[in-house]
Amino acid sequence: MLGLMQDWPLTVDKILDHAHSWFPQREVVTRSLEGPITRTTYGAIWGRAKQVTNALRGIGIVLGDRVATLAWNTERHLEAWYGAMSMGAVLHTVNPRLFPEQIAWIINHAEDKVLFFDTTFAPIVEKIAPLLKTVTTYVALTDRFNLPTGAIPNVIAYEDFIAGQSQDAQWGAFEENTACGLCYTSGTTGDPKGVLYSHRSNLLHAMAANSADCFGAGANDVVLPVVPMFHANAWAIAFVAPMCGAKLVMPGARLDGASVYELLESEKVTFTAAVPTVWLMLLNYLRETNSKLTTLKRVAIGGSAVPEAVLRAFEQDYGVEVIHAWGMTEMSPIGTIGKMLPEHYAQDRETQIKTKLKQGRALFTVDMKIVDDEGREKPHDGKAFGRLMVKGPAVARAYFKNAGARNAKGECLEEDGFFDTGDVATLDEIGVMQITDRAKDVIKSGGEWISSIDIENIAVGAEGVANAAVIGVVHPKWDERPLLIIEPKPGAAPTKAQLLAFLEGKIAKWWMPDDVVTVEKIPLGATGKINKLALRETFKDYRLPSTQAAE
Ligand code: ADP
Repeated sequence: MLGLMQDWPLTVDKILDHAHSWFPQREVVTRSLEGPITRTTYGAIWGRAKQVTNALRGIGIVLGDRVATLAWNTERHLEAWYGAMSMGAVLHTVNPRLFPEQIAWIINHAEDKVLFFDTTFAPIVEKIAPLLKTVTTYVALTDRFNLPTGAIPNVIAYEDFIAGQSQDAQWGAFEENTACGLCYTSGTTGDPKGVLYSHRSNLLHAMAANSADCFGAGANDVVLPVVPMFHANAWAIAFVAPMCGAKLVMPGARLDGASVYELLESEKVTFTAAVPTVWLMLLNYLRETNSKLTTLKRVAIGGSAVPEAVLRAFEQDYGVEVIHAWGMTEMSPIGTIGKMLPEHYAQDRETQIKTKLKQGRALFTVDMKIVDDEGREKPHDGKAFGRLMVKGPAVARAYFKNAGARNAKGECLEEDGFFDTGDVATLDEIGVMQITDRAKDVIKSGGEWISSIDIENIAVGAEGVANAAVIGVVHPKWDERPLLIIEPKPGAAPTKAQLLAFLEGKIAKWWMPDDVVTVEKIPLGATGKINKLALRETFKDYRLPSTQAAE
């Protein structure tokens, strides 16, 4: 027997429709690429997104066509995003931090027909345009006065593209499983793979992401997503904010500490989200200028583990609650959330800190388990490591064009239907998950596993350390031993003895790095995380003192 409720396909056009109907005056503030802070509203954005739809239809874009954006978080990006998705085109967000050749490869693989780009990325577009096989229209997200003058074929200013278009356009009216967005993984191993979100998966995930124990944002919040719309759906914030009627503050291209701080204060932001590297910059700025955060209440941090120093600074020095989130592009992206439970409130503060540094509990819609190499489930005792497997309506089943298929149906799943996250984790008795490493980064020493992440997160708290990375280096006796790589703060020169003394007692003895080296800059990948692959390459012939001693 079927239920007797109305048919209301879960499509994302309904999100902006809702904001337009019920929060038309709520502001969207942008640090524009042209310079000034601009102000608009959900009502105005809705109208201009309709114009985008009509402009796209005018150049022949139809249901299922891919439309790419290479853009910062701005009001225009939001308009293009909803204008394309709401008509059933597939909005392909391209990460500008990738190499130009990778960007060209991705756009060709996706067969994008239109490319919206910010003027900051005009040099990239000029370079790749001759390589692009399917793009017929280039739209610069600006007005005609700021149109890039370089050699980009068929380029039009966004304001001219939508000018004169009607604000009446049909949205929705397609099935909820229709493809909605496309985002490629960064391809640290092999070619990038396309994750193809559906309307239903994006809508369900946004509702889950905004549940009370996760972002918990509402119409009284002012939300600043530093996390970019070009990677993993800006952690759903571009859906969540119009859904709940929160004021939205878009940081544009300036993500340095001073610029983010200025917006946090001038716009009275209450909730923000980004990867730890952004927060290291902000916290440095706050200390240097002796500034306070007067309105911020919650900060979501994910993409890589929250360093202890960042957690303590936000919560103890600035009174801002840290929400630690874990996820990945393939999960839309949020999988777990580190909100504390009643059991944790009974603990002392230091134990609570340890708990908050873990990645947290599964969000509703996510099913999760840890298994050994044979697929057998490992116990939830907070100690046993296993491969972290996930399942859910906003978890990828297959990659675009069946890349990386593991079965005859083209799916990227294990036999039991779970997706292997590539992470290694523990789960404790009450379901709190802790990532101990990426499967490929874990250091295998004498048959046991050492978590590179754990050591890094402690080392980054040592005096004079700006960033820290740990990689496994080949060892004749133990297979691999950890090497600690340090990027010092300007003017600082922490010594090996000081760093090892700092780690002493904080990690198991046999986890102690065999050596410490200093580099000018720790390389970061396209999503702001430490590029372990590059470090492993740099140090592939590195001989540890312990190796020399063993010979
Ligand atoms: P990529 O970095 O390849 O683009 P994602 O951005 O999807 O991929 O990153 C997903 C990975 O980032 C996860 O599988 C995990 O290893 C890591 N990650 C994300 N959040 C956290 C976190 N809070 N703590 C530790 N690792 C995290």
